[in-house]
Amino acid sequence: MSRRVVVVGAGITGLAAAHRIAVDHPATQLVVLEAATRAGGRLVTSPIVGLPVDEGADSFLVRVPWATDLFAEAGLGGELVAPRARTASVWLDGALRPLPSPNVLGVPLDPSTVADGVLDPSDLERLAGDGRADGGLPAGTGADGDLSVGQVVRTCVGDAVFERLVDPLLGGVNAGRADDLSCTVMAPQLLEGARHPDGLLASLREAQQRTNPAAPVFNTHPAGMGHLANRLSERLGSALRLGCPVRSLTADGPRWVVHSDAGDETADAVVLAVPAAAAASLLSGLCPTVADTLAGIEHASVSIATFAYRRSDAPVSGDQSGFLVPRSAGMMMTACSYSGSKWAHLDDGRHSVLRVSAGRIDDRRPDGLDDDALVAALAADLAITVGVEAPPVAVRVGRWPDALAQFRPGHRARMAEAAKQLDDEVPGVVVAGAHHRGVGVPACVGSGTEAVAALAGHLR
Ligand SMILES: Cc1cc2nc3c(=O)[nH]c(=O)nc-3n(C[C@H](O)[C@H](O)[C@H](O)COP(=O)(O)OP(=O)(O)OC[C@H]3O[C@@H](n4cnc5c(N)ncnc54)[C@H](O)[C@@H]3O)c2cc1C
Repeated sequence: MSRRVVVVGAGITGLAAAHRIAVDHPATQLVVLEAATRAGGRLVTSPIVGLPVDEGADSFLVRVPWATDLFAEAGLGGELVAPRARTASVWLDGALRPLPSPNVLGVPLDPSTVADGVLDPSDLERLAGDGRADGGLPAGTGADGDLSVGQVVRTCVGDAVFERLVDPLLGGVNAGRADDLSCTVMAPQLLEGARHPDGLLASLREAQQRTNPAAPVFNTHPAGMGHLANRLSERLGSALRLGCPVRSLTADGPRWVVHSDAGDETADAVVLAVPAAAAASLLSGLCPTVADTLAGIEHASVSIATFAYRRSDAPVSGDQSGFLVPRSAGMMMTACSYSGSKWAHLDDGRHSVLRVSAGRIDDRRPDGLDDDALVAALAADLAITVGVEAPPVAVRVGRWPDALAQFRPGHRARMAEAAKQLDDEVPGVVVAGAHHRGVGVPACVGSGTEAVAALAGHLR
């Protein structure tokens, strides 16, 4: 008799898991239950001034294979594109200053490439050294001895590099405070480098020599990241059921019953590919300890306002992809992406499209503003930073409440322990998603893929 598996949630994690099941376990009866009326979760692309601009994720890291491989398996690998503009700036002391290149997650590898006004001479002197930890690294947390990004960077290269470069960059990725974020999850190469006997900078420089400087760091699809979700959804056909929020999960002997608005599904295995709070709620009756761990993961809310200007009203730099704004600037915006400079397919020659982010774990001001007030505040920040005074021809606001997990030091060890507990107490049920191994699309695809691998014994 063929096995039945239910995937709950059709964001990129659930779609990747479902794709893996369909391909690797074709005899399995697969059902994917998604609460929303469309699949993709935070992968969604919609037109603004006729251009396919992403509302959520707009690209993915290519250094790790997961997302690249999934695009290829979806038949879209040959269509991927790299950014045209590869450099970015940071707003420091009232001016946009280019990020040094090369840098690793904001840590400059060559002090001579640090622009004027970014760091003091004493910081540059330190950057000319090998980056050995002053007095050794602090003791770590959890089974893997994790440290915060702040602990690692401050100790090895100083506070200014952390506050003016690394925190704006890394804190921007998940709207967090890099002083509180797990280095194992957010910046494993920095932790590894800091533990290297030659020192952080020496180790990063050595690793840099082995990379091709011309290779792109990011890719996207010219029809938008939502195109991957659409393609995977189409392939699932009738296995994908939209508008089916799952309300609870109960046991029926060795099997599991998934209760949704569309009825009950009995399954041999279940993948919970939903945000941490939803997974916690579904597991509360079956595995309260893991439910508590998941419920305890803090999340930041972010908003993205996309402004489309006449090109002549907003002539942004064509060789810059955008800029970051440190929290110390006190602005509403946290980053601005020059979409048309970054991506050739978003350059129609007539418009400048700027994607402006707002909201951090310690800045909830955007949540208290309606869309018009948020747009006004971000337009004022754009006037200061890039000098755009003219009104946009179109604006779109996207709200992403509790979207970005904050990985505290020890997160990976806690997730490993949770997976083990689930396997002991609720065999056949696995949890995957952006709260698991990282918020990036590749990490989500990896999480969905690993979840299916962990269920292999239940799918035979
Ligand atoms: C504004 C923004 C910009 C980003 N930019 C990037 C980027 O450029 N590059 C990058 O790599 N990453 C980026 N990310 C992160 C990345 O997009 C997300 O981490 C990732 O898409 C999350 O995928 P997921 O499937 O785990 O979760 P989600 O996309 O949240 O999907 C979960 C799904 O579960 C469904 N669901 C919830 N509860 C239930 C239920 N009870 N029953 C059934 N279904 C349910 C939801 O409707 C949703 O569709 C960005 C995120 C945001 C918010």
